[in-house]
Amino acid sequence: MTLNVGVIGTGAIGQEHIGRLHGKLAGSAVVAVSDIDRDQAAAAAQRLCPGATVHRSGQDLVDDPRVEAVVVTSWGPSHEEFVLAAIAARKPVFCEKPLAVTAEACLRIVHAEIAAGRPLVQVGFMRRYDQGYRLLKDAVVSGTIGAPLLVHCAHRNASVPPHYTGDMGITDTFIHEIDVLRWLLDDDYVSAQVVKGRRTRHAPGTLEDPYMILLETRDGVRIDTEVFVNCRFGYDIQCQVVGEDGTASLPEPAAVAMRRDGQRSSAILMDWKLRFVDAYDVELQDWVDATAAGAMRGPSAWDGYFAAVTSDACVEAKRTGAIVPIVADGRPAFYDRQTPTGRRGP
Ligand code: NAP
Repeated sequence: MTLNVGVIGTGAIGQEHIGRLHGKLAGSAVVAVSDIDRDQAAAAAQRLCPGATVHRSGQDLVDDPRVEAVVVTSWGPSHEEFVLAAIAARKPVFCEKPLAVTAEACLRIVHAEIAAGRPLVQVGFMRRYDQGYRLLKDAVVSGTIGAPLLVHCAHRNASVPPHYTGDMGITDTFIHEIDVLRWLLDDDYVSAQVVKGRRTRHAPGTLEDPYMILLETRDGVRIDTEVFVNCRFGYDIQCQVVGEDGTASLPEPAAVAMRRDGQRSSAILMDWKLRFVDAYDVELQDWVDATAAGAMRGPSAWDGYFAAVTSDACVEAKRTGAIVPIVADGRPAFYDRQTPTGRRGP
């Protein structure tokens, strides 16, 4: 059986996901696309999923009777509209992060999903599907290093494009740590602080870069993360959990070790698309399989909401320098059937 998918947003990650869903993964085909730039959508369809209908709007795509499930990969501020449209049509929807650009908008999606009566929404937090993070979680859950006490992380990009401004270090970049660390520790956050230091001369415009984000969890675990998006040397994701009896670290991506000219070296990836390429495949295959089976088991709308609440607190902490409490709505019983923190698997 093939799941017929419609993709809204045919930019960078939209095209990547179309390529996965139409040809690379098993059990799915892209039968419709749309983008605010219709010519771009038509070109993407011709190249990646010939024969797919190119719709004038995301709503038209959702209304297309051939579309059984929707993937939203458009610009963040448009996510709420398209996710709500899919829920209203009772069609499962995979939405790239962020679920929506404000916590209030995420909550509207949560309430719409509850009103629909069954889980329909998955958010594209793909790190939960990364083999390295899964191994790290196994090490934490098994108790091998004892109770987690501290987590040290770094999220480094070689450079960022000109449109990367303002608080995107939090809302676009650190949002991945926000979700994956909550999943890793099976814990929620209670406060955030941002510590700014010396600014790199490589940061464009007035962008603040780098800075440290400190989170505290309900169980008292302290997390520090360096966000440094113009580090020059590559795309580098680090995570080390310090437990009562030892430490556990995220494995480095496989790379050939070379000896040459009196030096030992191995390459560092430069492109985020390559760092998590396998995780995207596993994530979307799992979504296709679950959706075809009438289930929904990845990161939920509640996870999207909690990430937005945390992200808002971090932005506020960066602006004020204060330690900002992270206060979320009470989790609706609808999400109780999932994990203690309201998260589904994977
Ligand atoms: P992008 O290259 O700018 O693509 C977004 C596309 O959506 C563009 O073609 C844009 O058209 C289109 N669009 C904007 N508003 C729209 C609307 N109202 N209706 C239909 N299409 C609309 O951005 P991207 O890098 O692919 O990112 C897309 C989303 O994926 C973002 O939310 C981003 O945070 C997320 N993302 C997630 C990951 C991950 O690791 N999980 C990685 C990358 C991106 P115009 O260019 O004409 O505005």
